[in-house]
Amino acid sequence: MKTNAFLTRSLLSGLYLLLLSMSGMSYGQDILTAEERQWLADQPVIRFAPAPNYPPVEFFDDNNEYQGITADFIRIIDQKFNFGLKLEIVQLKSWGEVVSAGRAREVDMWGAAEQTPARSQYMQFTRPYIRLPAVIIVRNEFVGEGIEALEGKQVVGIDNYASYEHLQEHYPQLNTMAVPDIETGLRMVSYGSADAIVASNAAAIYYIERNGLTNLKVIGESGFEWNLRFAVRDDWAPLLSIMQKGLDGITAQQKRDIYRYWINLDSVEDGAFSQNGRYITLAGVLVAILLVLLGWCVRRKSKLKMQLLTQRLEEQKQIEQELKNLATTDALTGTYNRRAILEMAHVDHAKCLAEGQPFSVLLMDIDHFKQVNDQYGHEVGDRVIKAVVDVCSEVLQVKSLGHIGRFGGEEFVILLPNTDQAAASILAEQLRERVEREPIQCVKNAWHSATVSIGLASQDSYETFDELLNRADLAMYEAKKAGRNQVAISQELVAG
Ligand code: GH3
Ligand code: MG
Ligand code: MG
Repeated sequence: MKTNAFLTRSLLSGLYLLLLSMSGMSYGQDILTAEERQWLADQPVIRFAPAPNYPPVEFFDDNNEYQGITADFIRIIDQKFNFGLKLEIVQLKSWGEVVSAGRAREVDMWGAAEQTPARSQYMQFTRPYIRLPAVIIVRNEFVGEGIEALEGKQVVGIDNYASYEHLQEHYPQLNTMAVPDIETGLRMVSYGSADAIVASNAAAIYYIERNGLTNLKVIGESGFEWNLRFAVRDDWAPLLSIMQKGLDGITAQQKRDIYRYWINLDSVEDGAFSQNGRYITLAGVLVAILLVLLGWCVRRKSKLKMQLLTQRLEEQKQIEQELKNLATTDALTGTYNRRAILEMAHVDHAKCLAEGQPFSVLLMDIDHFKQVNDQYGHEVGDRVIKAVVDVCSEVLQVKSLGHIGRFGGEEFVILLPNTDQAAASILAEQLRERVEREPIQCVKNAWHSATVSIGLASQDSYETFDELLNRADLAMYEAKKAGRNQVAISQELVAG
Protein backbone atom coordinates (compact mmCIF):
# COMPACT_ATOMS: atom_id res chain seq x y z
CA MET A 1 0.00 0.00 0.00
CA LYS A 2 1.28 3.37 -0.95
CA THR A 3 0.37 6.33 1.25
CA ASN A 4 0.46 10.04 0.70
CA ALA A 5 0.23 12.66 3.39
CA PHE A 6 -2.90 14.67 2.81
CA LEU A 7 -2.73 18.39 2.07
CA THR A 8 0.74 18.14 0.64
CA ARG A 9 -0.73 19.43 -2.58
CA SER A 10 0.00 23.08 -2.89
CA LEU A 11 -2.54 25.23 -1.12
CA LEU A 12 -1.73 27.92 -3.61
CA SER A 13 -3.68 26.28 -6.41
CA GLY A 14 -5.72 28.83 -8.29
CA LEU A 15 -8.97 27.06 -7.60
CA TYR A 16 -8.39 26.83 -3.92
CA LEU A 17 -7.58 30.52 -3.53
CA LEU A 18 -10.56 31.46 -5.62
CA LEU A 19 -12.92 29.39 -3.54
CA LEU A 20 -11.45 30.49 -0.27
CA SER A 21 -11.68 34.15 -1.16
CA MET A 22 -15.32 33.74 -2.13
CA SER A 23 -16.37 31.73 0.85
CA GLY A 24 -14.36 33.41 3.56
CA MET A 25 -13.18 31.43 6.56
CA SER A 26 -15.88 30.51 8.98
CA TYR A 27 -15.07 32.31 12.18
CA GLY A 28 -18.65 32.15 13.46
CA GLN A 29 -20.27 29.40 15.46
CA ASP A 30 -18.59 26.01 15.32
CA ILE A 31 -20.69 23.59 13.30
CA LEU A 32 -19.32 20.64 15.29
CA THR A 33 -20.34 19.67 18.81
CA ALA A 34 -17.76 19.45 21.60
CA GLU A 35 -18.00 15.64 21.41
CA GLU A 36 -17.29 15.63 17.70
CA ARG A 37 -14.30 17.95 18.22
CA GLN A 38 -13.04 15.63 20.92
CA TRP A 39 -13.53 12.60 18.70
CA LEU A 40 -11.44 14.24 15.95
CA ALA A 41 -8.72 15.19 18.46
CA ASP A 42 -8.61 11.65 19.84
CA GLN A 43 -8.30 10.06 16.42
CA PRO A 44 -4.64 9.50 15.54
CA VAL A 45 -5.39 9.04 11.83
CA ILE A 46 -8.25 8.42 9.39
CA ARG A 47 -7.23 6.03 6.62
CA PHE A 48 -8.89 7.35 3.49
CA ALA A 49 -8.97 5.33 0.24
CA PRO A 50 -10.12 7.23 -2.84
CA ALA A 51 -11.09 5.58 -6.12
CA PRO A 52 -7.67 5.56 -7.84
CA ASN A 53 -8.86 6.28 -11.37
CA TYR A 54 -12.28 7.84 -11.47
CA PRO A 55 -11.67 11.29 -12.93
CA PRO A 56 -12.93 13.90 -12.66
CA VAL A 57 -14.56 12.70 -9.43
CA GLU A 58 -11.33 11.47 -7.81
CA PHE A 59 -8.08 10.05 -9.07
CA PHE A 60 -4.31 10.12 -8.66
CA ASP A 61 -2.54 12.31 -11.18
CA ASP A 62 0.78 11.57 -12.89
CA ASN A 63 2.62 12.67 -9.72
CA ASN A 64 0.44 10.38 -7.59
CA GLU A 65 -1.28 13.43 -6.09
CA TYR A 66 -4.89 12.97 -5.05
CA GLN A 67 -7.09 15.15 -7.26
CA GLY A 68 -10.66 15.70 -8.40
CA ILE A 69 -14.06 16.94 -7.28
CA THR A 70 -14.03 14.90 -4.07
CA ALA A 71 -10.47 15.97 -3.23
CA ASP A 72 -11.55 19.61 -3.50
CA PHE A 73 -14.66 19.00 -1.42
CA ILE A 74 -12.50 17.57 1.37
CA ARG A 75 -9.99 20.41 1.19
CA ILE A 76 -12.70 23.06 1.31
CA ILE A 77 -14.54 21.36 4.18
CA ASP A 78 -11.37 20.82 6.17
CA GLN A 79 -10.18 24.40 5.74
CA LYS A 80 -13.50 26.22 6.00
CA PHE A 81 -14.55 24.59 9.28
CA ASN A 82 -11.11 23.88 10.74
CA PHE A 83 -11.82 20.18 11.08
CA GLY A 84 -8.14 19.27 11.22
CA LEU A 85 -8.88 15.94 9.54
CA LYS A 86 -5.82 13.74 9.96
CA LEU A 87 -6.33 11.89 6.72
CA GLU A 88 -3.85 9.32 5.54
CA ILE A 89 -4.45 8.85 1.83
CA VAL A 90 -4.23 5.18 0.90
CA GLN A 91 -3.52 4.72 -2.79
CA LEU A 92 -4.88 1.38 -3.97
CA LYS A 93 -4.79 0.00 -7.49
CA SER A 94 -8.46 -0.41 -8.31
CA TRP A 95 -11.90 0.34 -7.00
CA GLY A 96 -12.24 -3.37 -6.25
CA GLU A 97 -9.30 -3.12 -3.85
CA VAL A 98 -10.83 -0.02 -2.23
CA VAL A 99 -14.06 -1.92 -1.55
CA SER A 100 -12.21 -4.95 -0.17
CA ALA A 101 -10.04 -2.78 2.08
CA GLY A 102 -13.17 -1.08 3.47
CA ARG A 103 -14.78 -4.43 4.16
CA ALA A 104 -11.61 -5.68 5.89
CA ARG A 105 -11.42 -2.46 7.98
CA GLU A 106 -8.01 -1.71 6.47
CA VAL A 107 -9.32 1.72 5.49
CA ASP A 108 -11.83 3.89 7.33
CA MET A 109 -13.32 6.14 4.71
CA TRP A 110 -14.18 6.36 0.99
CA GLY A 111 -14.63 9.57 -0.96
CA ALA A 112 -17.19 8.94 -3.66
CA ALA A 113 -19.16 5.73 -3.40
CA GLU A 114 -22.57 4.53 -4.45
CA GLN A 115 -24.55 3.16 -1.52
CA THR A 116 -25.44 -0.49 -2.00
CA PRO A 117 -27.00 -3.01 0.42
CA ALA A 118 -23.76 -5.04 0.47
CA ARG A 119 -21.61 -2.02 1.29
CA SER A 120 -24.09 -0.83 3.91
CA GLN A 121 -23.21 -3.91 5.99
CA TYR A 122 -19.93 -2.33 7.02
CA MET A 123 -19.99 1.33 5.89
CA GLN A 124 -22.35 4.24 6.52
CA PHE A 125 -22.99 6.87 3.88
CA THR A 126 -23.54 10.62 3.84
CA ARG A 127 -26.24 12.05 1.61
CA PRO A 128 -25.15 12.17 -2.05
CA TYR A 129 -23.20 15.22 -3.16
CA ILE A 130 -22.49 14.26 -6.80
CA ARG A 131 -24.94 12.81 -9.26
CA LEU A 132 -23.69 11.42 -12.56
CA PRO A 133 -25.60 9.54 -15.23
CA ALA A 134 -23.98 6.41 -16.68
CA VAL A 135 -24.04 6.58 -20.47
CA ILE A 136 -23.58 3.99 -23.22
CA ILE A 137 -20.55 4.61 -25.41
CA VAL A 138 -19.95 2.82 -28.72
CA ARG A 139 -17.85 3.20 -31.87
CA ASN A 140 -19.10 5.71 -34.44
CA GLU A 141 -20.21 3.07 -36.91
CA PHE A 142 -22.53 1.46 -34.35
CA VAL A 143 -26.16 1.56 -35.48
CA GLY A 144 -28.91 1.94 -32.89
CA GLU A 145 -29.85 3.96 -29.82
CA GLY A 146 -30.28 3.14 -26.15
CA ILE A 147 -29.72 0.02 -24.12
CA GLU A 148 -32.00 -2.10 -26.37
CA ALA A 149 -29.46 -1.74 -29.18
CA LEU A 150 -26.88 -3.66 -27.10
CA GLU A 151 -28.54 -7.05 -27.40
CA GLY A 152 -26.09 -9.63 -28.75
CA LYS A 153 -23.18 -7.16 -28.41
CA GLN A 154 -20.15 -7.36 -26.15
CA VAL A 155 -20.78 -4.79 -23.41
CA VAL A 156 -18.12 -3.93 -20.84
CA GLY A 157 -18.58 -2.40 -17.41
CA ILE A 158 -16.14 -1.55 -14.67
CA ASP A 159 -15.49 -4.27 -12.13
CA ASN A 160 -17.04 -3.61 -8.72
CA TYR A 161 -18.78 -0.46 -9.94
CA ALA A 162 -22.43 -0.17 -8.98
CA SER A 163 -23.18 0.71 -12.63
CA TYR A 164 -21.92 -2.74 -13.67
CA GLU A 165 -23.95 -4.50 -10.99
CA HIS A 166 -27.02 -2.54 -12.15
CA LEU A 167 -26.38 -3.66 -15.72
CA GLN A 168 -26.09 -7.34 -14.75
CA GLU A 169 -29.13 -7.19 -12.52
CA HIS A 170 -31.48 -5.32 -14.87
CA TYR A 171 -30.26 -6.60 -18.24
CA PRO A 172 -29.25 -10.25 -17.68
CA GLN A 173 -29.79 -10.97 -21.39
CA LEU A 174 -26.83 -8.73 -22.31
CA ASN A 175 -23.40 -10.17 -22.98
CA THR A 176 -21.49 -8.27 -20.28
CA MET A 177 -17.87 -8.42 -19.20
CA ALA A 178 -15.99 -6.66 -16.39
CA VAL A 179 -12.85 -4.59 -17.00
CA PRO A 180 -10.62 -3.15 -14.27
CA ASP A 181 -11.11 0.54 -15.17
CA ILE A 182 -12.82 2.98 -17.53
CA GLU A 183 -9.70 3.69 -19.57
CA THR A 184 -9.24 0.00 -20.40
CA GLY A 185 -12.90 -0.32 -21.34
CA LEU A 186 -12.91 2.75 -23.57
CA ARG A 187 -9.80 1.52 -25.39
CA MET A 188 -11.37 -1.91 -25.91
CA VAL A 189 -14.43 -0.31 -27.51
CA SER A 190 -12.33 2.09 -29.58
CA TYR A 191 -10.04 -0.70 -30.83
CA GLY A 192 -12.95 -3.05 -31.59
CA SER A 193 -12.44 -5.75 -28.95
CA ALA A 194 -15.76 -4.76 -27.34
CA ASP A 195 -18.89 -3.09 -28.74
CA ALA A 196 -20.00 -0.83 -25.91
CA ILE A 197 -19.08 0.45 -22.47
CA VAL A 198 -21.35 1.78 -19.74
CA ALA A 199 -19.54 4.53 -17.85
CA SER A 200 -19.99 7.96 -16.32
CA ASN A 201 -20.12 10.61 -19.03
CA ALA A 202 -17.80 12.94 -17.11
CA ALA A 203 -15.13 10.24 -16.65
CA ALA A 204 -15.53 9.14 -20.26
CA ILE A 205 -15.01 12.69 -21.55
CA TYR A 206 -11.83 12.92 -19.48
CA TYR A 207 -10.31 9.71 -20.86
CA ILE A 208 -11.57 10.15 -24.43
CA GLU A 209 -9.86 13.55 -24.58
CA ARG A 210 -6.71 12.26 -22.88
CA ASN A 211 -6.35 9.20 -25.13
CA GLY A 212 -7.52 10.87 -28.32
CA LEU A 213 -10.08 8.12 -28.92
CA THR A 214 -11.68 9.82 -31.89
CA ASN A 215 -14.04 7.05 -32.98
CA LEU A 216 -16.47 6.94 -30.07
CA LYS A 217 -19.98 8.28 -29.58
CA VAL A 218 -22.72 8.20 -26.95
CA ILE A 219 -26.00 6.44 -27.81
CA GLY A 220 -27.94 7.23 -24.67
CA GLU A 221 -28.15 6.88 -20.93
CA SER A 222 -28.06 3.45 -19.31
CA GLY A 223 -30.82 4.15 -16.80
CA PHE A 224 -28.29 4.12 -13.98
CA GLU A 225 -27.27 7.25 -12.12
CA TRP A 226 -24.52 7.44 -9.56
CA ASN A 227 -25.39 9.13 -6.30
CA LEU A 228 -21.94 9.53 -4.89
CA ARG A 229 -21.46 9.89 -1.16
CA PHE A 230 -18.76 9.87 1.44
CA ALA A 231 -18.68 6.57 3.30
CA VAL A 232 -17.16 5.86 6.71
CA ARG A 233 -16.83 2.62 8.64
CA ASP A 234 -20.12 1.87 10.37
CA ASP A 235 -18.68 1.88 13.88
CA TRP A 236 -17.53 5.50 13.49
CA ALA A 237 -20.80 7.41 13.83
CA PRO A 238 -19.16 10.73 14.80
CA LEU A 239 -17.16 10.88 11.56
CA LEU A 240 -20.31 10.38 9.50
CA SER A 241 -22.04 13.32 11.15
CA ILE A 242 -18.86 15.43 10.86
CA MET A 243 -18.61 14.79 7.11
CA GLN A 244 -22.34 15.45 6.62
CA LYS A 245 -22.08 18.75 8.48
CA GLY A 246 -19.08 19.69 6.37
CA LEU A 247 -20.98 18.88 3.16
CA ASP A 248 -24.05 20.83 4.31
CA GLY A 249 -21.82 23.80 5.08
CA ILE A 250 -20.47 24.18 1.57
CA THR A 251 -22.41 26.79 -0.36
CA ALA A 252 -24.12 26.05 -3.66
CA GLN A 253 -21.77 28.54 -5.32
CA GLN A 254 -18.70 26.73 -3.98
CA LYS A 255 -20.05 23.43 -5.25
CA ARG A 256 -20.73 24.86 -8.68
CA ASP A 257 -17.21 26.32 -8.78
CA ILE A 258 -15.72 22.92 -8.07
CA TYR A 259 -17.86 21.20 -10.73
CA ARG A 260 -17.10 23.91 -13.25
CA TYR A 261 -13.36 23.64 -12.57
CA TRP A 262 -13.29 19.87 -13.17
CA ILE A 263 -15.96 19.39 -15.80
CA ASN A 264 -16.03 22.74 -17.62
CA LEU A 265 -19.76 22.48 -17.99
CA ASP A 266 -21.63 21.30 -14.94
CA SER A 267 -22.49 17.72 -15.77
CA VAL A 268 -23.11 16.87 -12.16
CA GLU A 269 -26.12 17.79 -10.14
CA ASP A 270 -25.84 18.96 -6.60
CA GLY A 271 -27.21 16.06 -4.60
CA ALA A 272 -27.76 18.11 -1.47
CA PHE A 273 -30.21 20.49 -3.11
CA SER A 274 -33.38 18.49 -2.69
CA GLN A 275 -32.60 17.26 0.80
CA ASN A 276 -32.01 20.34 2.82
CA GLY A 277 -34.71 20.90 5.40
CA ARG A 278 -34.21 24.66 5.28
CA TYR A 279 -36.19 24.79 2.09
CA ILE A 280 -39.40 23.52 3.63
CA THR A 281 -40.74 27.06 4.03
CA LEU A 282 -42.68 28.66 1.19
CA ALA A 283 -39.60 30.59 0.14
CA GLY A 284 -37.71 27.33 0.30
CA VAL A 285 -40.19 25.66 -2.03
CA LEU A 286 -39.67 28.46 -4.54
CA VAL A 287 -35.92 28.10 -4.24
CA ALA A 288 -36.24 24.33 -4.67
CA ILE A 289 -38.28 24.83 -7.86
CA LEU A 290 -35.58 27.14 -9.15
CA LEU A 291 -32.95 24.56 -8.30
CA VAL A 292 -34.89 21.79 -10.05
CA LEU A 293 -34.98 24.03 -13.10
CA LEU A 294 -31.27 24.68 -12.68
CA GLY A 295 -30.64 20.94 -12.38
CA TRP A 296 -32.64 20.42 -15.57
CA CYS A 297 -30.58 23.08 -17.34
CA VAL A 298 -27.39 21.51 -16.00
CA ARG A 299 -28.40 18.09 -17.33
CA ARG A 300 -29.26 19.65 -20.69
CA LYS A 301 -25.85 21.30 -20.70
CA SER A 302 -24.25 17.96 -19.92
CA LYS A 303 -26.04 16.36 -22.84
CA LEU A 304 -25.02 19.31 -24.97
CA LYS A 305 -21.39 18.84 -24.02
CA MET A 306 -21.54 15.16 -24.97
CA GLN A 307 -23.20 16.14 -28.26
CA LEU A 308 -20.45 18.68 -28.88
CA LEU A 309 -17.83 16.08 -28.12
CA THR A 310 -19.48 13.57 -30.44
CA GLN A 311 -19.66 16.27 -33.11
CA ARG A 312 -15.98 17.09 -32.65
CA LEU A 313 -15.04 13.43 -32.94
CA GLU A 314 -17.17 13.28 -36.13
CA GLU A 315 -15.30 16.26 -37.55
CA GLN A 316 -11.92 14.73 -36.75
CA LYS A 317 -13.00 11.54 -38.45
CA GLN A 318 -14.10 13.53 -41.48
CA ILE A 319 -10.71 15.27 -41.65
CA GLU A 320 -8.96 11.91 -41.46
CA GLN A 321 -11.20 10.63 -44.24
CA GLU A 322 -10.43 13.71 -46.36
CA LEU A 323 -6.68 13.18 -45.85
CA LYS A 324 -7.10 9.56 -46.84
CA ASN A 325 -9.06 10.62 -49.92
CA LEU A 326 -6.32 13.07 -50.86
CA ALA A 327 -3.79 10.27 -50.73
CA THR A 328 -5.83 8.01 -53.01
CA THR A 329 -7.56 10.48 -55.36
CA ASP A 330 -6.35 12.09 -58.54
CA ALA A 331 -6.79 15.84 -58.14
CA LEU A 332 -7.78 16.63 -61.74
CA THR A 333 -10.31 13.87 -62.41
CA GLY A 334 -11.46 12.97 -58.91
CA THR A 335 -10.97 9.30 -59.69
CA TYR A 336 -8.38 6.95 -58.13
CA ASN A 337 -4.75 7.93 -58.59
CA ARG A 338 -2.12 5.54 -59.92
CA ARG A 339 -1.08 4.23 -56.52
CA ALA A 340 -4.64 3.60 -55.36
CA ILE A 341 -5.83 1.87 -58.54
CA LEU A 342 -2.77 -0.37 -58.64
CA GLU A 343 -3.19 -1.29 -54.98
CA MET A 344 -6.82 -2.10 -55.63
CA ALA A 345 -5.85 -4.04 -58.75
CA HIS A 346 -3.57 -6.38 -56.84
CA VAL A 347 -6.25 -7.06 -54.22
CA ASP A 348 -9.05 -7.65 -56.77
CA HIS A 349 -6.79 -9.76 -58.96
CA ALA A 350 -5.70 -12.00 -56.10
CA LYS A 351 -9.30 -12.39 -54.94
CA CYS A 352 -10.57 -13.38 -58.39
CA LEU A 353 -7.71 -15.83 -58.80
CA ALA A 354 -8.41 -17.41 -55.42
CA GLU A 355 -12.13 -17.70 -56.13
CA GLY A 356 -11.64 -18.94 -59.69
CA GLN A 357 -13.43 -15.88 -61.04
CA PRO A 358 -12.53 -14.16 -64.34
CA PHE A 359 -10.66 -10.86 -64.23
CA SER A 360 -10.12 -8.34 -67.04
CA VAL A 361 -8.26 -5.08 -67.32
CA LEU A 362 -8.51 -2.22 -69.85
CA LEU A 363 -5.79 0.29 -70.60
CA MET A 364 -7.23 3.38 -72.28
CA ASP A 365 -5.33 6.28 -73.88
CA ILE A 366 -6.79 9.45 -75.39
CA ASP A 367 -5.92 9.75 -79.08
CA HIS A 368 -3.88 12.64 -80.47
CA PHE A 369 -4.13 14.44 -77.21
CA LYS A 370 -1.08 16.56 -77.87
CA GLN A 371 -3.08 18.28 -80.62
CA VAL A 372 -5.74 19.34 -78.11
CA ASN A 373 -3.10 20.91 -75.90
CA ASP A 374 -1.43 22.53 -78.88
CA GLN A 375 -4.62 23.91 -80.35
CA TYR A 376 -6.52 25.03 -77.24
CA GLY A 377 -3.96 25.14 -74.47
CA HIS A 378 -3.28 23.05 -71.38
CA GLU A 379 -6.34 24.20 -69.48
CA VAL A 380 -8.73 23.00 -72.17
CA GLY A 381 -6.65 19.79 -72.32
CA ASP A 382 -7.40 19.30 -68.62
CA ARG A 383 -11.08 19.77 -69.26
CA VAL A 384 -11.03 17.13 -71.99
CA ILE A 385 -9.29 14.63 -69.70
CA LYS A 386 -11.90 15.28 -67.02
CA ALA A 387 -14.78 14.95 -69.50
CA VAL A 388 -13.48 11.59 -70.79
CA VAL A 389 -13.18 10.24 -67.24
CA ASP A 390 -16.67 11.47 -66.35
CA VAL A 391 -18.19 9.71 -69.33
CA CYS A 392 -16.38 6.44 -68.52
CA SER A 393 -17.25 6.63 -64.80
CA GLU A 394 -20.89 7.11 -65.70
CA VAL A 395 -20.90 4.01 -67.92
CA LEU A 396 -19.17 1.91 -65.21
CA GLN A 397 -21.58 3.18 -62.59
CA VAL A 398 -24.65 2.43 -64.65
CA LYS A 399 -23.37 -1.10 -65.21
CA SER A 400 -22.11 -1.44 -61.62
CA LEU A 401 -18.87 -2.67 -63.07
CA GLY A 402 -15.24 -2.05 -62.26
CA HIS A 403 -13.16 0.98 -61.22
CA ILE A 404 -11.31 3.55 -63.24
CA GLY A 405 -8.01 5.08 -62.15
CA ARG A 406 -5.57 7.50 -63.74
CA PHE A 407 -2.47 5.61 -64.78
CA GLY A 408 -0.67 8.80 -65.88
CA GLY A 409 -1.20 11.74 -68.27
CA GLU A 410 -4.15 10.87 -70.49
CA GLU A 411 -3.93 7.16 -69.87
CA PHE A 412 -6.31 5.19 -67.64
CA VAL A 413 -6.63 1.72 -66.12
CA ILE A 414 -10.07 0.15 -65.78
CA LEU A 415 -10.32 -2.89 -63.51
CA LEU A 416 -13.06 -5.40 -64.25
CA PRO A 417 -13.15 -8.08 -61.54
CA ASN A 418 -15.51 -11.03 -62.13
CA THR A 419 -15.72 -10.06 -65.81
CA ASP A 420 -14.64 -12.39 -68.61
CA GLN A 421 -13.21 -11.35 -71.97
CA ALA A 422 -16.56 -11.37 -73.82
CA ALA A 423 -18.26 -9.07 -71.30
CA ALA A 424 -15.16 -6.88 -71.02
CA SER A 425 -14.92 -6.38 -74.79
CA ILE A 426 -18.59 -5.32 -74.96
CA LEU A 427 -17.99 -2.84 -72.16
CA ALA A 428 -14.77 -1.55 -73.78
CA GLU A 429 -16.64 -0.96 -77.04
CA GLN A 430 -19.38 0.93 -75.17
CA LEU A 431 -16.79 3.13 -73.47
CA ARG A 432 -15.07 3.89 -76.77
CA GLU A 433 -18.36 4.76 -78.42
CA ARG A 434 -19.67 6.92 -75.55
CA VAL A 435 -16.45 8.95 -75.48
CA GLU A 436 -16.59 9.49 -79.23
CA ARG A 437 -20.22 10.63 -79.02
CA GLU A 438 -19.60 13.08 -76.15
CA PRO A 439 -19.10 16.62 -77.42
CA ILE A 440 -16.66 18.53 -75.23
CA GLN A 441 -16.73 22.30 -75.35
CA CYS A 442 -13.23 23.67 -75.75
CA VAL A 443 -13.86 27.36 -76.30
CA LYS A 444 -16.97 29.29 -77.22
CA ASN A 445 -18.47 27.74 -80.32
CA ALA A 446 -15.67 25.18 -80.60
CA TRP A 447 -16.49 21.62 -79.68
CA HIS A 448 -14.11 18.73 -79.62
CA SER A 449 -14.89 15.09 -79.96
CA ALA A 450 -12.25 13.01 -78.22
CA THR A 451 -11.55 9.41 -79.11
CA VAL A 452 -9.77 6.71 -77.17
CA SER A 453 -7.80 3.58 -77.96
CA ILE A 454 -8.35 0.69 -75.59
CA GLY A 455 -6.30 -2.43 -74.96
CA LEU A 456 -8.07 -5.34 -73.27
CA ALA A 457 -6.47 -8.28 -71.48
CA SER A 458 -8.34 -10.98 -69.58
CA GLN A 459 -6.81 -13.26 -66.98
CA ASP A 460 -5.06 -16.20 -68.59
CA SER A 461 -4.07 -19.07 -66.28
CA TYR A 462 -1.91 -17.88 -63.37
CA GLU A 463 -0.20 -14.75 -64.69
CA THR A 464 0.45 -11.89 -62.27
CA PHE A 465 -1.42 -8.61 -62.45
CA ASP A 466 1.67 -6.87 -63.85
CA GLU A 467 1.87 -9.42 -66.68
CA LEU A 468 -1.83 -8.90 -67.38
CA LEU A 469 -1.43 -5.11 -67.43
CA ASN A 470 1.53 -5.44 -69.75
CA ARG A 471 -0.60 -7.40 -72.20
CA ALA A 472 -3.32 -4.72 -72.02
CA ASP A 473 -0.65 -2.11 -72.76
CA LEU A 474 0.60 -4.00 -75.81
CA ALA A 475 -2.98 -4.40 -77.03
CA MET A 476 -3.56 -0.68 -76.61
CA TYR A 477 -0.56 0.06 -78.86
CA GLU A 478 -2.02 -2.40 -81.39
CA ALA A 479 -5.22 -0.31 -81.34
CA LYS A 480 -3.17 2.85 -81.96
CA LYS A 481 -1.28 1.21 -84.80
CA ALA A 482 -4.51 -0.02 -86.37
CA GLY A 483 -5.81 3.55 -86.66
CA ARG A 484 -6.92 4.58 -83.10
CA ASN A 485 -10.49 4.95 -81.82
CA GLN A 486 -10.82 1.21 -81.40
CA VAL A 487 -10.55 -1.69 -78.95
CA ALA A 488 -7.83 -4.32 -79.33
CA ILE A 489 -7.88 -7.59 -77.45
CA SER A 490 -4.62 -8.99 -76.18
CA GLN A 491 -3.13 -11.33 -78.79
CA GLU A 492 -2.02 -14.08 -76.45
CA LEU A 493 -5.50 -14.59 -75.18
CA VAL A 494 -6.99 -14.62 -78.66
CA ALA A 495 -4.32 -17.10 -79.67
CA GLY A 496 -4.95 -19.15 -76.49
P1 GH3 B 1 -1.55 9.11 -79.17
O1 GH3 B 1 -2.84 9.02 -79.94
O2 GH3 B 1 -0.45 8.37 -79.84
O3 GH3 B 1 -1.72 8.75 -77.76
O4 GH3 B 1 -1.18 10.64 -79.26
P2 GH3 B 1 -1.01 11.64 -78.12
O5 GH3 B 1 -0.98 13.00 -78.67
O6 GH3 B 1 -2.07 11.43 -77.09
O7 GH3 B 1 0.40 11.28 -77.59
P3 GH3 B 1 0.97 11.05 -76.16
O8 GH3 B 1 0.13 10.06 -75.44
O9 GH3 B 1 2.41 10.75 -76.31
O10 GH3 B 1 0.85 12.48 -75.49
C1 GH3 B 1 0.09 12.73 -74.37
C2 GH3 B 1 0.19 14.18 -74.02
O11 GH3 B 1 -0.68 14.49 -72.97
C3 GH3 B 1 1.57 14.61 -73.60
C4 GH3 B 1 1.33 15.52 -72.41
O12 GH3 B 1 1.81 16.83 -72.63
C5 GH3 B 1 -0.16 15.60 -72.28
N1 GH3 B 1 -0.59 15.54 -70.91
C6 GH3 B 1 -0.21 14.62 -70.00
N2 GH3 B 1 -0.85 14.89 -68.82
C7 GH3 B 1 -1.61 16.01 -69.01
C8 GH3 B 1 -2.47 16.78 -68.18
O13 GH3 B 1 -2.69 16.50 -67.00
N3 GH3 B 1 -3.09 17.84 -68.73
C9 GH3 B 1 -2.90 18.20 -70.02
N4 GH3 B 1 -3.54 19.24 -70.49
N5 GH3 B 1 -2.07 17.50 -70.80
C10 GH3 B 1 -1.44 16.41 -70.34
MG1 MG C 1 -2.47 9.68 -76.19
MG1 MG D 1 -0.41 8.62 -73.71
